[in-house]
Amino acid sequence: MTRTAGPPSQTHDLVLRGGRVLDPETGHDALADVGVTGGTITAVSARPLVGRRTLDVRGLVVAPGFIDMHSHSHDVAGHRLQAMDGVTTALELEAGLSPVDEGYRQAAAEGRPLNYGFSASWCQARMAAVGGLPHGGGMHAALGLLGNPAWQREATGTQVDEMLELLRLDLAAGALGIGVVVGYAPRVKPEEYLAVSRLAAESGRPTYTHARDLVEQFPDVPIDGAHEIARAAAETGVHAHYCHITSTSRLHSDKVMRLMDDTRAEGGRISTEAYPYGAGMTAIGAAFLAPELLAATGLTPDGIVHAATGERMANAERLREVRAEDPAGLAIAHFLNEADPFEQSLIDRALLHPSTVVGSDAMPLTWTNGRPDPLAWPLPPTAVTHPRTSGTFAKVLRRYVRELGALTLLEAVSRSSFGPARILQDSVPAMRRKGRVQPGCDADLIVFDADTVTDRATYEHSTRPSLGFAHVLVGGVPVVQDGTLCLDALPGRPVRA
Ligand SMILES: [Zn+2]
Repeated sequence: MTRTAGPPSQTHDLVLRGGRVLDPETGHDALADVGVTGGTITAVSARPLVGRRTLDVRGLVVAPGFIDMHSHSHDVAGHRLQAMDGVTTALELEAGLSPVDEGYRQAAAEGRPLNYGFSASWCQARMAAVGGLPHGGGMHAALGLLGNPAWQREATGTQVDEMLELLRLDLAAGALGIGVVVGYAPRVKPEEYLAVSRLAAESGRPTYTHARDLVEQFPDVPIDGAHEIARAAAETGVHAHYCHITSTSRLHSDKVMRLMDDTRAEGGRISTEAYPYGAGMTAIGAAFLAPELLAATGLTPDGIVHAATGERMANAERLREVRAEDPAGLAIAHFLNEADPFEQSLIDRALLHPSTVVGSDAMPLTWTNGRPDPLAWPLPPTAVTHPRTSGTFAKVLRRYVRELGALTLLEAVSRSSFGPARILQDSVPAMRRKGRVQPGCDADLIVFDADTVTDRATYEHSTRPSLGFAHVLVGGVPVVQDGTLCLDALPGRPVRA
């Protein structure tokens, strides 16, 4: 098969020679040369291509770079860890940013290894309009205020209007939809969630939701968190993306997946995402980590580990103290036990469901000495995070393709690249050129060894980069070369609606 954009004799800037080329959209899975010129794939050909530069990738897989729909890792250090895990586009959609332009401007000014993009943040808009708190300040400001009750309180009609106006401005600025972490303010009125969904639907962009609690967890919740998402899709026509479905559904994941299937069958536009770990990570001051609420969701204080100190919460009293001292401090929360076969099977089933894409929920680094050094590489031991930041995508290849044989390589690659591109492309046309290895598409490409690619990050050693990705190209520019990070490479471009 030959699929070339220009004449066969064309000389490409770069030729990836003789790899096993996977294109999830067409199902192509065969040996081929891939030509790249500038930032674009210029040929995929079974016959040898001519390049000014040639990389011999025989024995390796050539695939579209992974598109992470759920990355809170906005800085260079976080992007580097994700690049080593095969990611070429890291999008902040669940939390989002408001004002969204702040995020785009900062990333453009500083430069980023990976492509980046942001949704509008319901939470930051609410912090300003309802909480009377400062508007903006990025992810760190948002994490700092996440546990502050001021923004979680009931809103007046005028306040909701003000908040919607801020979100409207963000959508006009190119936000990729609206991130709604309603699970962090679980007492807000269901009407407000519907109004936000309606605004997103009107703009033709999705919502990305961290669901509120389920009725099984809290019988008095204003509306069941899963039902709320299904209802919004049905009543407003919004495309509702259900973030990290196991981390909020926990023991009820099977039931929630079925409800989403039913909603889709009735015409609702629902997409789902999961990561392959049984623990979450968030600000220890988050509403749902209050000691008196843990039991209902199956958590215990000793399942919560403060990242900055490594301290496991001995009891409810200690948890209360740490929440008061360092509400923005990140903590690992073990909500499903990976050592328990049944609980692990819930994660597996959600991840293997045909409609699920892989999203890492990559977190910002915590610096245990209090002195961030985001340009240091390799990362010093004072940088810690959740292993999902470093290892999600390689873990999917290791566990589900190689160890369990539950996914073909093409399926696993599809869930990590083409799947997210397809979810986004109706509202973000730029995504039609991503997640594919076809002439005319963006040269966001990864080259890896399918037999050895593996995650190495653990809860104890959370910033160990994955191994096995030989080359990672972002817009044709190497950010990883021969398995080594390119320290100066900042080819990341903004993705906007
Ligand atoms: Zn979340």
